[in-house]
Amino acid sequence: MLRVAVSGATGRMGSRIIALMNEYEGLSLAAAIDRNDHPGIGKDVGSLISLGELGVRLSSSVEDLAGKADVLIEFSSVAATLEHLRIASKKGISMVIGTTGFSGDEMAEIKNLTRDIPCVFAPNMSVGVNLLLKVLRDVAVVLGEDYDIEIVEAHHRLKKDAPSGTALKMASVIAEAVGRNLEDVAVYARHGIIGERSKREIGIQAIRAGDIVGEHTVIFGGLGERIEITHKASSRDTFARGALRAAQWLSGKGPGLYDMQDVLGLK
Ligand code: NAD
Repeated sequence: MLRVAVSGATGRMGSRIIALMNEYEGLSLAAAIDRNDHPGIGKDVGSLISLGELGVRLSSSVEDLAGKADVLIEFSSVAATLEHLRIASKKGISMVIGTTGFSGDEMAEIKNLTRDIPCVFAPNMSVGVNLLLKVLRDVAVVLGEDYDIEIVEAHHRLKKDAPSGTALKMASVIAEAVGRNLEDVAVYARHGIIGERSKREIGIQAIRAGDIVGEHTVIFGGLGERIEITHKASSRDTFARGALRAAQWLSGKGPGLYDMQDVLGLK
């Protein structure tokens, strides 16, 4: 049995991961972690997230997971994720990281820390989005320089980072496919007299409204035609199932940084 700890356990994602875990053969909930000032610390996590008692108390200590958990699934904040990864890499606990919003330097630290443990890191754990990443690469290569590339994403009003990790991942996959450096060509906002669009720019725009779970559209705009490729998530369960699948997949893997394309065999 693979013993799974969930961090961000009472959050929107963590609670769905715990709710769906019993559908996955070979996975058992070993620990539930949340921030140390969470009012539910010490209480049964199942009761806190309306699942009924699960026999696992909410805790704030990742240090205590050694010997208790094989893999830590993390959907929390950037700071908490980095802190927990530092501990997990010392203690030899595998990780599945779904948290988004890391800077370039923080990503470099993640790469460094995962030299010693196996870790799946993906800003979007859904099967559909990961398949799309593969498709987008092919479409961008075929369309070449004559099509303007724009990405529009929409999420709920509580999302903290923008643009979404998924939109940035889509942009970086496309930029790589067409031989551009994303940092040089990304345009995140337009306002005022901005002049004509440059040929090589990749626009990335973010909408925040209500309870939108997550929507991404990539537009390839040519003269006389336009291709739009859209993914819409209608429930967080698609991400939760991806995270659980990644935890199962990690079992027995060697140290290193993997992504959902590895998990889904899309490489
Ligand atoms: P949320 O705010 O509902 O939940 C975050 C949880 O983390 C809360 O319970 C919070 O108390 C907890 N937390 C804060 N500090 C902590 C700490 N030090 N230790 C442990 N827990 C701590 O947010 P959410 O919607 O569940 O999203 C969480 C993260 O996952 C975000 O970065 C979001 O962008 C990302 N996300 C990723 C995917 C994906 O597929 N990879 C999908 C959805 C959301």
